Amino acid sequence: MAEFSFELDDDQKAVRDWIHGFAADVMRPAAAEWDEREETPWPIIQEAAKIGLYSLDFYAQQYFDPTGLGIPMTMEELFWGDAGIALSIVGTGLAAVGVLANGTEEQIGTWIPQMYGDADDVKVAAFCSSEPDAGSDVGSMRTRAVYDEAKDEWVLNGTKTWATNGGIANVHVVVAVVDPEIGSKGHASFIVPPGTPGLSQGQKFKKHGIRASHTAEVVLDQVRVPGNCLLGGKEKLDERLARAREKAKGGGERLKNAAMATFEASRPAVGAMAVGTARAAYEVALDYAKTRHQFGRPIIDNQGVAFQLADMRTRIDAARLMVWRASWMAVTGKPFDSAEGSMSKLFASETAKQVTAQAVQILGGNGFTREYPVERMHRDAAIYTIFEGTSEIQRLVIARTLSGVQIR
Ligand SMILES: Cc1cc2nc3c(=O)[nH]c(=O)nc-3n(C[C@H](O)[C@H](O)[C@H](O)COP(=O)(O)OP(=O)(O)OC[C@H]3O[C@@H](n4cnc5c(N)ncnc54)[C@H](O)[C@@H]3O)c2cc1C
Repeated sequence: MAEFSFELDDDQKAVRDWIHGFAADVMRPAAAEWDEREETPWPIIQEAAKIGLYSLDFYAQQYFDPTGLGIPMTMEELFWGDAGIALSIVGTGLAAVGVLANGTEEQIGTWIPQMYGDADDVKVAAFCSSEPDAGSDVGSMRTRAVYDEAKDEWVLNGTKTWATNGGIANVHVVVAVVDPEIGSKGHASFIVPPGTPGLSQGQKFKKHGIRASHTAEVVLDQVRVPGNCLLGGKEKLDERLARAREKAKGGGERLKNAAMATFEASRPAVGAMAVGTARAAYEVALDYAKTRHQFGRPIIDNQGVAFQLADMRTRIDAARLMVWRASWMAVTGKPFDSAEGSMSKLFASETAKQVTAQAVQILGGNGFTREYPVERMHRDAAIYTIFEGTSEIQRLVIARTLSGVQIR
């Protein structure tokens, strides 16, 4: 088991500095342009692919870092660069993790490389779970997957929404209902291979923030996928469904705990994204406060400004510590007895919203314009308290975990 340390080792520092260089030199200068264009920044993804920063190998290395700090460190630096572009780069990872977590070795080997493509022909992937009537309430999902035994094919029908890279992805991972009688336990995930008839992009959303990241509806109309596109395979699904149906006999708690543990382990990554955006805005505000003069002195000479900066930095560091703790717990197999993963996401995402708002205030009128990046960072930060479970859902999970009461 890896020793816990607050200090990154030399290899980690080298990787962090390398990502930081890309974020500072390639992402930052392009951030305002792609935010205005509201399009996927393909040339930047390609640049990242050329240097190995957009690749299965790189993310696998970070994912399996025995200290747990590889992914949070990567997310913080990329999202420090720019949140919209960063989500275009890491969005594929959502789908890849879905396959890594549930797929067979053969499925992992077949589909994850096709999600990334290569430096000459980059591809992206999408993870499609949310639906118009099933956001926080995943149990209300309606997209159906029906098995056609004669052809060994699954037939998918439904409408997904809010899918990052939805419709432009080479590979879509779609969560669908296979047994409507047992709520979210009757869900399964499917690969929809490139060019499958019946899958189309619906509305593309015009968003408040992270506008360089493509978000759209995905419509599934009689989409037929081969039997081997069911992640984990039919045998495993049948076993899992049988266990879920025996919930009344006591098997349900174990299933619920397994799903909870997966969320607890993935949420700190979103917390790290939020830390990156918050840090970026804080740095701009600190510089500005030192150079902007009013009443014959730099505005940072006023406690009213300096104390805000002190609070901003304190919250950012606290958020990072919570994210690192939860990431370390995930990789070392510690039980999330107090929902520490959800805590880290809750605290970091609320911090990003608060800190970016303070940064706008410290820049005064300039903070309110698109001439300065804090305006964009403030819009971007609003996503962190919404996706991967809203702040209210994090509080619900934390409160239920701490109390054992099924609070509503
Ligand atoms: C930019 C963006 C990208 C996304 N990317 C993806 C993606 O790639 N794949 C994917 O599957 N999904 C994605 N999502 C969807 C995202 O996960 C959902 O938006 C989120 O889960 C919230 O669901 P909802 O929008 O339906 O809100 P709702 O669930 O309708 O919630 C509305 C409000 O009610 C509150 N609320 C709901 N239930 C409760 C409760 N029990 N107690 C207290 N408050 C409650 C919520 O906290 C929220 O404030 C993305 C969303 C966005 C905006």
